[in-house]
Amino acid sequence: MATELQHTVGKAASLSGTSLHTGEKVTLRLEPAPVDHGIKFRRSDLQDQPTIDAKIDNLKTVERATTIGEGSVRVHTVEHVLSALSAMGVDNAIIDMDANEPPIGDGSARPYLEVVKKAGVVPQETPRKMFDVGETMHIETKSGALLILLPDDKFRISCTQAGPNNRFTQFLSVEVTPAVFEKEIAPARTFVYYEDVQQLMDKNLIKGGSLENAIVVRGDAILSKEPLRFQDEFVRHKILDIIGDLALVGQRIRGHIIAVKPGHGANADLARAIVRESARRAAISAPRARPIGDGALETDQIMEILPHRFPFLMVDRILNFEGGTKITGLKSVSINEPFFQGHFPGHPVMPGVLQVEAMAQVASVLLFKLSDTSNRIGYFMSADGVKFRKPVLPGDTLYIHAELTKTRGNRLAKAQCHCVVNDVVVSEAELMFTFVET
Ligand SMILES: [Zn+2]
Repeated sequence: MATELQHTVGKAASLSGTSLHTGEKVTLRLEPAPVDHGIKFRRSDLQDQPTIDAKIDNLKTVERATTIGEGSVRVHTVEHVLSALSAMGVDNAIIDMDANEPPIGDGSARPYLEVVKKAGVVPQETPRKMFDVGETMHIETKSGALLILLPDDKFRISCTQAGPNNRFTQFLSVEVTPAVFEKEIAPARTFVYYEDVQQLMDKNLIKGGSLENAIVVRGDAILSKEPLRFQDEFVRHKILDIIGDLALVGQRIRGHIIAVKPGHGANADLARAIVRESARRAAISAPRARPIGDGALETDQIMEILPHRFPFLMVDRILNFEGGTKITGLKSVSINEPFFQGHFPGHPVMPGVLQVEAMAQVASVLLFKLSDTSNRIGYFMSADGVKFRKPVLPGDTLYIHAELTKTRGNRLAKAQCHCVVNDVVVSEAELMFTFVET
């Protein structure tokens, strides 16, 4: 599995049109954003131009469309533009709008897809946040929607849509990739049942609505300006909505969604469940992973000492130093590590030599701390008594211990090292270093 990088748009690009609910003219402008920024909406029509994170925590309502908000500021009908950004692989962007809703366009995601393509999608320097489905999750709602999330090494959606009395029952299964989205999903338009829109039109709640931006189903008849774009256009639009609503998770999902009669409410419930599971996983590894005691070092401080960089930096944090001769470092072994791609396909195991490398890097930090001048570097010379006792797997947290056992003048040093996962020693080695003036 390749390590994926975060992406943003290459340049700003915009799109104008009419908003569905107010019928007013609106311009949406897509802008690049830095790594770890996520997707944010910006209301440039309001004072101070407030932004709203496209996150499930900000979800306000799911009736007919997905509305998010912070404080008193709202943006409505976010799911189609988020679907296009998510499917095209954009992790970080600002969606600037001079109204409370994107232009509805033709009721599909095609106009947004086009604006994303116009802006371009460019890689950034930091790995993407991924949610790998572990145990099966499911959501079932009173309205009869059922969503099941299964482990998979790709992002797939298999969806069954069914209208009232099971009319227009349709099924489609896709792997969500930019190419599939562009061809099979983005053009699928919103559809509504005549009974539902009649009331809304009477209440004047959809001023911008017309047969140009939705398919209206009346009995068995299909009313729309343009003929159906696909014989199964409805299920394709359901998949489009699932992608857009799940973009509110804020992480890429690697898993297979089985959806039966999905809707915005059920999609949002699943997004919430994923965010909860992700937080639970972080909480399990977090307490012991936080630096403790004097001299604890974060990654950026380690990088001031060691010249190693991703993907060859094998220590995330130094947890503590003890008595001037002992050190403990930590490495979270993620499924996204580049070495798992080839070691081994379908059977990921952390290479033993990289555990030795992790020991050497942690021991080097200790040697650096001990030397009073910063113009000496400890070079890794040899390893003795190397033993690999247990496989290290994706998801493991590696505790790397090193203890200085011998120094000869200021020329040589020996360190006894071992790596521990879940309180069990998984590897050990005695490492020798020589000092070199720089
Ligand atoms: Zn929709």
